[in-house]
Amino acid sequence: MINRLLWTALASAVASTALSNTPAAAQDTPYATINAAAESSEITVQPLRGGVSLLQGSGGNMAAFASADGMYLVDDGIALSQSKIEAALKGISRAPIKFAVNTHWHWDHADGNGWVHRDGAVLIAHANTAKHLTQTIRVEEWGHTFTPVPKEGQIAQLVRAERSMSFGGETIRLRPYMPSHTDGDLSAYFVKADVLLTGDTWWNGLYPFIDYVAGGSIDGMIKAANTNVEMAGPGTIVIPGHGPAGGLADLTEYRDMLVAIRTNVAALKKQGKTLEETIAAKPTAEFDAKWGQAIISPALFTTLVYRGV
Ligand SMILES: [Zn+2]
Repeated sequence: MINRLLWTALASAVASTALSNTPAAAQDTPYATINAAAESSEITVQPLRGGVSLLQGSGGNMAAFASADGMYLVDDGIALSQSKIEAALKGISRAPIKFAVNTHWHWDHADGNGWVHRDGAVLIAHANTAKHLTQTIRVEEWGHTFTPVPKEGQIAQLVRAERSMSFGGETIRLRPYMPSHTDGDLSAYFVKADVLLTGDTWWNGLYPFIDYVAGGSIDGMIKAANTNVEMAGPGTIVIPGHGPAGGLADLTEYRDMLVAIRTNVAALKKQGKTLEETIAAKPTAEFDAKWGQAIISPALFTTLVYRGV
């Protein structure tokens, strides 16, 4: 709930920067606002099943699998949350962190790479994520230019195709999506626990961000949403990149929302409408009450879809 309120407060800041032609001052960019939210937020821990817990309060969602052999993290949040995340992890288990997977390169999922590596973790990600972490990339919607991360935060083990890892009595299956939210998204599935992490290919109850600069697109997001529906079984607990954990029915509703809005926006663009005219036509209207209340506004989501159809 705390996270939800924080994100709600961020929504207008993100939207106004993304749609404005004048750069916001450095201290009030969405990037800075999200960091400030992480700084003031507590880290909540929600044990799910089979040793897998959901951690929230540092940008994107994180998962920790605790076993006698150590901890296995999926995403590691924003670096300034280090001490709070370390304390939260110690509350789950005293076991050391052995592995940390990045679902994609965005700082709200991978900025903790440096400290988890110093704490002993081997860093794992898709090859394109590894590449983006060593590049200078401007993400206009966040009002920030990301620079190469220090060596300690770079990826040690690259994933280019589906890979299964045995660890702590679990099997963790890492699967690349086709380019979707970025060109380097991975899902992580804890087979015994039946817990699936989708990274930012799924935002539960929120319009998603789409990173076109790093190879994302609305059509890739729809493909990934279909993949998620195929991967989840009826009892699977699914952790999105943002928002609460959910299940197959939530994934299906999200996929249908993406398809409906893509259809609406594509029809308007085909009629020759400009972006401004398309936003004014409110192609997301029937979904805004549920999906458009935080982080990515209806206007910004329409902008992101318009770019890709
Ligand atoms: Zn992301």
